[in-house]
Amino acid sequence: MSMYDLEEDRLVAEIMGRGARRLLIQLPDGLKNEGPRLANLIRDKTGAEVFVSASPAWGACDLSLDAAARLRADLLVHYGHNEFLRDGSNGIPVLYIPAKSRHETKPVVEKALPLLHGTRIGVATVVQHIHTLTETTKLLEDKGFKIYLPGRGPWAHETGQVLGCDYFGLKKIESEVDSFLVIGSYFHALGASLSVEKPTIHADPYDGTARNLDQDRARIIRQRYAMVEKARRAQKFGIIVSTKPGQSNPTIALSIQRKLEESGKRGVILYADEVVPDKLLDFTDIEAYVDTACPRLALDDPERFSKPIVTRDEIMVAIGAWTWEELLERGLIRL
Ligand code: SF4
Repeated sequence: MSMYDLEEDRLVAEIMGRGARRLLIQLPDGLKNEGPRLANLIRDKTGAEVFVSASPAWGACDLSLDAAARLRADLLVHYGHNEFLRDGSNGIPVLYIPAKSRHETKPVVEKALPLLHGTRIGVATVVQHIHTLTETTKLLEDKGFKIYLPGRGPWAHETGQVLGCDYFGLKKIESEVDSFLVIGSYFHALGASLSVEKPTIHADPYDGTARNLDQDRARIIRQRYAMVEKARRAQKFGIIVSTKPGQSNPTIALSIQRKLEESGKRGVILYADEVVPDKLLDFTDIEAYVDTACPRLALDDPERFSKPIVTRDEIMVAIGAWTWEELLERGLIRL
């Protein structure tokens, strides 16, 4: 049995109910292998034509709307995430199936108990484990903790949910809690620790570990400070804009270009579907990049780029519009 609930019955019922005759299925890398089985199931049960996307699907920001339009698909099935953009589908209906995890979270939450600071705990997770939050809350309350769940953010639409680029809900409750517990992948927990200034404990249901991310946070903040200093010295910037529907920030890029020019620097806007560091090498004149696409490109993998890369907020520090402390107060991650 798959460790994820792919909701096959709902999938078939939705296709029949909507009368879809041609569809494109997108799955994240960890679930791609389920694509052929789902395609055969749909064809057998509904007779619809099915195309399985072999392209990456990094998040719900990465809807293959253009591909679905080119195929003249009448439904895009997007696995692994819940709705990201409201009314962002350009008329193509999108069926989101989050793929709820069957991994148990209770053992790893118990393991995290001695690591929690204080008694007021902000608890968050990703959509795959949202259904376990009631059990987690009860477990923690029975141990005497007071639990705070983050509210919805611009992109994370469920109470208690975080995304790799949306920790807005955690910021809102930061002053009320002593520490945070984030259940899910390291990627999401690290993002939380970079967005708040309180201790963040990561409980990982996949490998059964729990640990405090304070040292990881401190290491990345040191790296980011050094990166901002390098960007401060650069004159010619490439401002990266993504074509992906949920990551596309052309207006922000134009505003950054204006601000760079006001501070005596130059910026050219680079428009890309996948941001492939090797492809950027062709722009030999550029000295540093500003990332207006997925903020995790700059934060998690800067070594993949041959030149300094800063986020849309970090560039504000590099040009002297914000102080480094102001940036940390806002949190390092914003889409
Ligand atoms: S922008 Fe990045 S972090 Fe946000 S949903 Fe997309 S891939 Fe995830």
